[in-house]
Amino acid sequence: MTSEAPLFDTHCHFDFNVFAEDFDAQLRQATEVGVKRILIPAIGEENWQRLELLSAHHNEIDWALGCHPYFLNQNSTQQVDNLIAYYHQTSVKPIAIGECGLDALVSVELGFQQQILQQHIQVANELGLPVLLHCRKAYNDLLRILKQFPIHNGGVLHGFSGSYQQAMQLLEKGLLIGVGGVITYPRANKTRNAIRQLPLDGILLETDAPDMPLNHFQGQSNHPKRLPVILSTLSELKQIEKQTIAQKIWQNSISLF
Ligand SMILES: [Zn+2]
Repeated sequence: MTSEAPLFDTHCHFDFNVFAEDFDAQLRQATEVGVKRILIPAIGEENWQRLELLSAHHNEIDWALGCHPYFLNQNSTQQVDNLIAYYHQTSVKPIAIGECGLDALVSVELGFQQQILQQHIQVANELGLPVLLHCRKAYNDLLRILKQFPIHNGGVLHGFSGSYQQAMQLLEKGLLIGVGGVITYPRANKTRNAIRQLPLDGILLETDAPDMPLNHFQGQSNHPKRLPVILSTLSELKQIEKQTIAQKIWQNSISLF
């Protein structure tokens, strides 16, 4: 499946080992089906340098700087304190801060996650960058933090799988909704209904590869080349022609980043 209009995979862990062996070929598979830009979120200090290098070597690749809530540890406070200094020393600048956020399903204490998230928001505001947000089972805590620490330059709630009401609350906070493989599952009724009703200018597309395999591709690593399948599903859900959606979402992506 190919898209004529360019697509932007706004959340793809393309630096993970599963893609490393023949990276150039993997990237070509994505660009050949229309995925012309890929934003790779950071997980923590351990991959910052690699993301900067990938971005330096490939025009299609951009990177974000931050600490993923999964991977927080005793060094994370220091890493987050160091984000602004790190940003200034990079030769290829990250275009967003993240991914960061709250995850109630990991063992890292939620209070600590909240403190680290607040710091990310302050850094993004200071640097004038948007934020890539991760949130699982912690929407109310996230909304409370966003009220207390407003995001100044927009951002995206990636991998959205909530209700219409939650999506609208996030839009009101100046965020866009990152739509991924969840909508390809017929049983994901709540999210599919939410996305069907959302205004197109509130939506970005993402794969979250190698995670979040699409329906019919379970058991395989997800890949940015699957982004056109998500576009097709979105087109069916919204009953709007694919290329119209693709053009609008490309504009959303470019104006945010
Ligand atoms: Zn992610």
